[in-house]
Amino acid sequence: MSAQTSKSSVSAPREILQKLHEVMAQRLSPQAKLDKVAKTIAKALSSEVCSIYLLRDTKLELFSTEGLAKSAVHVTTLSFGEGLVGNIAERGTPLNLAEARAHPNFAYRPETGEDLFHSFAGVPILRQGQSVGVLCVQHRDPREYAEEEIEALQTVAMVLAELIKAAGLIDDKAMAEARGVRSGTVRLGGMRIVDGLARGMVVFHQPKVHIEHTVADDLDAEKERVRNAFQTMRTHIDKMMNQADFGGAGEHDDILETYKMFAFDEGWARRINEAIEKGLTAEAAIERVQQNTRVQMRKTQDVYLLERLQDLDDLANRLIRIVAGKLGTSADLGLTEDSILVARSLGPAELLEYDRRRLKGVILEEGSLTAHVTIVARAMGIPMLGRAKGIMNMVMPGDPVILDSTSEALFIRPSAEASRQYENRLSLRAKQQAKYASIKELPTITKDGTTISLMMNAGLKVDLAGLHITNADGIGLFRTEFQFLVSATLPRRQAQTQLYRDVLDACGSKPVIFRTVDIGGDKAVPYLRSEDVEENPAMGWRALRVALERPGLLKVQSRALIEAAAGRDLSLMFPMVTTTAEFIGAKAMVLEELDVVRKAGHDLPRSIRYGAMLEVPALAYELDTLLPAVDFISVGTNDLVQFLFAADRSHPKLANRYDWLSVPILRFLKRIVDAADAAGVPISICGEMGGRTLESLALIALGVRRLSVTPAAIGPVKTVIRATTLITLAESMASWLTDSSLSVREHLMQWAEKHNIPL
Ligand code: PEP
Ligand code: MG
Repeated sequence: MSAQTSKSSVSAPREILQKLHEVMAQRLSPQAKLDKVAKTIAKALSSEVCSIYLLRDTKLELFSTEGLAKSAVHVTTLSFGEGLVGNIAERGTPLNLAEARAHPNFAYRPETGEDLFHSFAGVPILRQGQSVGVLCVQHRDPREYAEEEIEALQTVAMVLAELIKAAGLIDDKAMAEARGVRSGTVRLGGMRIVDGLARGMVVFHQPKVHIEHTVADDLDAEKERVRNAFQTMRTHIDKMMNQADFGGAGEHDDILETYKMFAFDEGWARRINEAIEKGLTAEAAIERVQQNTRVQMRKTQDVYLLERLQDLDDLANRLIRIVAGKLGTSADLGLTEDSILVARSLGPAELLEYDRRRLKGVILEEGSLTAHVTIVARAMGIPMLGRAKGIMNMVMPGDPVILDSTSEALFIRPSAEASRQYENRLSLRAKQQAKYASIKELPTITKDGTTISLMMNAGLKVDLAGLHITNADGIGLFRTEFQFLVSATLPRRQAQTQLYRDVLDACGSKPVIFRTVDIGGDKAVPYLRSEDVEENPAMGWRALRVALERPGLLKVQSRALIEAAAGRDLSLMFPMVTTTAEFIGAKAMVLEELDVVRKAGHDLPRSIRYGAMLEVPALAYELDTLLPAVDFISVGTNDLVQFLFAADRSHPKLANRYDWLSVPILRFLKRIVDAADAAGVPISICGEMGGRTLESLALIALGVRRLSVTPAAIGPVKTVIRATTLITLAESMASWLTDSSLSVREHLMQWAEKHNIPL
């Protein structure tokens, strides 16, 4: 029997939508509404049957039908993947068949009386991209439905999704359960960015908008909304491109280029307008077009195109958020339960906006070890897994996940077995922590008697608890800009003074080194933006460069530090010092403030020590002038390494490319350490490198005697140092450095194994 394609007898989609709109507005029970919808659609599409299947208890249940046996309603159920209906739901795409029985998936359900019908067309009812039901029509004659009829069905399915949501027929929990049953536990690999274990429910940093109204009242007004939203989005993208890496979101150039291409694509805007013509609101039209694009693009095997689909999905969500006026992040909405944040990328200020009691972990599609957002996560004690490819499309809000950053894995909808393993690891971890706690009061001293000063990095008041927990020898780097990052406006002097006083109080007799603000690079604050476009913000107008040019900033901060340290010792250092002259200039500014305070008759600090951070390679070639000028040096290996390798520290593609234990880096550090020692200037390392066990051994082998590390690293680093005989390690290191192999990692690992160092 040959299928004949019908001459479309479909009423204009707008009319159908209008009718559905009226049905939805009526004071009827959800069931009565669904029945009316089925009737309306059957009539509009001249079909003898119209049925609506909805997700219930992880199955697709016949909720309403016009044309099939009414006795089958709430009786007939199909699993995902079962029968034609299950097939549509599983794949999330329509089926259009002239002869239903000919399809390999056809599953006969005698109770429905469907044997009378030949043709079949069905579309998924989607919510947030997930099938929550199926809408289908059937016909006695074997006819294939016209494309515009399928299109009309898809549009109606969107309206049904709204009705279902409004009537509370399906909730997020039911959706999450259904996903769990269908796809079971999924294990996804990633890169350990911040070590740790966590469990919670998925929350998207940029939440998807629930579309509440799908049927338009005024088409022109909807088109105007879309026009304006495109305008806003294009401006946003231009702005992001101008501030690449400087902006909070941290999006990268290639993504932004793609965004730009789509955002200016007139074809996209036109298709959205056509969908509005059919009677949809702006939000629903954008989503409708996106659903079509998804189906088209998923047919391709082209990896490049599939990646672009993700960009387009991102952008469509962004457009919907703009149209709906819901641009806030999940931090604005507030977390309501233990949550695992999922994002493509994240800025440090954005992370700081979250309630850390509820935020248990972060999963990023991108991410790198030394990006500032990583440092913030580390400081907050929040495990972070990066480079989790495809995560954005694999989870939905509310999905349970276990994040095991230690073993670089993530379990989506964990099985009982995965949960058991998590509990085991958690208790192992607790034992490990107990071990660290047991050596807390012991000195950090090598087996052959060299004492290492092990300090911690901090930046927020809440970090201070770490001092007590770890018994660190003090704070070797207090990143003062964190206070600036969490604040919407420039922190007032009083607020700065208060924080510094609290820090000094918490440290008691232990030393603290305050690092003056390092803003810029990936630490952007809205109230301190460069007017010029920064092509290369990490090497741009940041840190001391800002401070020297906008003296007000450093002056206020110096005053706050001087006042907070009245009667006590004060150590401060400047970030990103590039020349000795800059250091001298910055110190002179602090001295001026000191003079003001002195003249005002206020108490002064008992002593002030001035340090320079060495993180710009050029400074290492000016040590002859720098060393006599400073009281101490602190090496910021995060920046230093990015400049030495010319490799952006927050670039995900470069995250694993260069090794901290490479010979060039170690030789460079050795030169500085030797020079500082010879000049009698104390030198410490405060980059992330010092907090890694193997790297910490390399550093002490080079002669470093002071490390400032993230609090969680104090226990592990102290453990390895206490197990090491420094003299033999230093000898080996000297020979490795003359070796031509690029990295000493392998040598060091073997050495550690041979000497039973518990890495
Ligand atoms: C560094 O660059 O190593 C450093 C400690 O400073 P920050 O990470 O804050 O740039
Ligand atoms: Mg730095």
